Amino acid sequence: MDHKLTLYNTLSRKKELFEPINPPHVGMYVCGPTVYGDAHLGHARPAITFDLVFRYLRHLGYKVRYVRNITDVGHLENDADEGEDKIAKKARLEQLEPMEVVQYYTDRYHRDMDQLNVLSPSIEPRASGHIIEQIEMIEKIFDSDLAYESEGSVYFDVEKYNKQYHYGKLSGRVLDDLMANTRDLEGQDEKRNPYDFALWKKAQPEHIMRWPSRWSKGFPGWHLECSAMSARYLGERFDIHGGGMDLLFPHHESEIAQSVAANGIDPVKYWLHNNMITINGQKMGKSLGNFITLGEFFSGTHKSLSKAYSPMTIRFFILQAHYRSTLDFSNDALLAAEKGLDRLMKAWATLAKLVPQEKSSVEVNLLRENCFAAMNDDFNSPIVIANLFEGVRIINSVNDKKESLSADDLSQLRDTFNTFIGEILGLKQEETSSGNDASLEGLMNLVLDLRKNAKTAKDFTTADKIRDELTKIGISVKDTKDGATWNLE
Ligand code: ZN
Repeated sequence: MDHKLTLYNTLSRKKELFEPINPPHVGMYVCGPTVYGDAHLGHARPAITFDLVFRYLRHLGYKVRYVRNITDVGHLENDADEGEDKIAKKARLEQLEPMEVVQYYTDRYHRDMDQLNVLSPSIEPRASGHIIEQIEMIEKIFDSDLAYESEGSVYFDVEKYNKQYHYGKLSGRVLDDLMANTRDLEGQDEKRNPYDFALWKKAQPEHIMRWPSRWSKGFPGWHLECSAMSARYLGERFDIHGGGMDLLFPHHESEIAQSVAANGIDPVKYWLHNNMITINGQKMGKSLGNFITLGEFFSGTHKSLSKAYSPMTIRFFILQAHYRSTLDFSNDALLAAEKGLDRLMKAWATLAKLVPQEKSSVEVNLLRENCFAAMNDDFNSPIVIANLFEGVRIINSVNDKKESLSADDLSQLRDTFNTFIGEILGLKQEETSSGNDASLEGLMNLVLDLRKNAKTAKDFTTADKIRDELTKIGISVKDTKDGATWNLE
């Protein structure tokens, strides 16, 4: 591949040149949602961040196998080894079968992701569908003597692992500090050390999601599913593992430990983490009352929103910040994003209608190079957007006849906009009142070009047929001395 893509690797704490293990193939694993409630901004950011990575790697010509899991078992309330399973709790409260909860929220998650124009991953495995792989992995960790059984549950022996390897290499945490800071939690007397984490939990009588194993009827620990499923679909060592920064510790740190213990191989070449979203400077949380679901954004029904915001506005808002920066949400910030997006999309539609001139008065090559340079610099979407706005300025001045573009430059600018706005940033025109969007413009340019060719070849039957058929579906075509124009009736 002819590129100089660099990305920031959380593991090495520096930007590295992207060199996949087995080009042109790229394996990418991203931790997906735990499906027990509607998706919110905190779900949208990793989904959009890694959609950008996925889209750009594909644009560069890589064959990407993108795995994003669905956590449907084992994620306990306090993100550790105690408390109720988040899905089982929802099922109990609503008197549903846990898999009904899973199906319902998985469907809603998919609907929200479709609206945000997030591409489907190549594989979307569920934790509950990979219990066998997880049990096999526990056996391999036993073989390495880094797991122990206690009261029907199985724990990972962090201290013993840390003597041979390095627990904390990803998050930078030190085991001694962890030891000093671990709270006393109920049930931890089963563990040799409080920071040991569960690989398998014996199910309490009220716990309905349970599978048989040689230790007990129970369920796998939360960290285990990602280790087992990434190895299953991407191999024991793969290129990219992504997720939100909140998953760095203990989830991703423990994934490394499990994979090294089971397979003897450090599983991931590049670790990528998106930063968090704050709301008016505060952490997002149900108890803080600032927890806004994507559905509430799209309908404008949350009390802190002055209006509804379209999915593309949310997507644009997220892409306006670099994925490793924090992003503060507010109603005003969204209003500004909506205005910016509108300017960009209007210019994109105008671009399709511009008429080429003999000579260019402005340079557009650099714009394209700058967009690629920004993407190659750790997926710097805000710089891409800044360059596209330079393009907007050019488009508007050409439209006002203050500047001009040659046919070659115009076609290059169109290609730059289509590639970066549509294909890589994944933004699309949304319904407007005129209904006259850029894809229709593009389509009509193509149809009228074909009609012109037919006329040039003296094939008037085809030329007339095109005009007549367009009239039937409500598009009138008028021939002028500068060529054909069209209008929606
Ligand atoms: Zn995970």
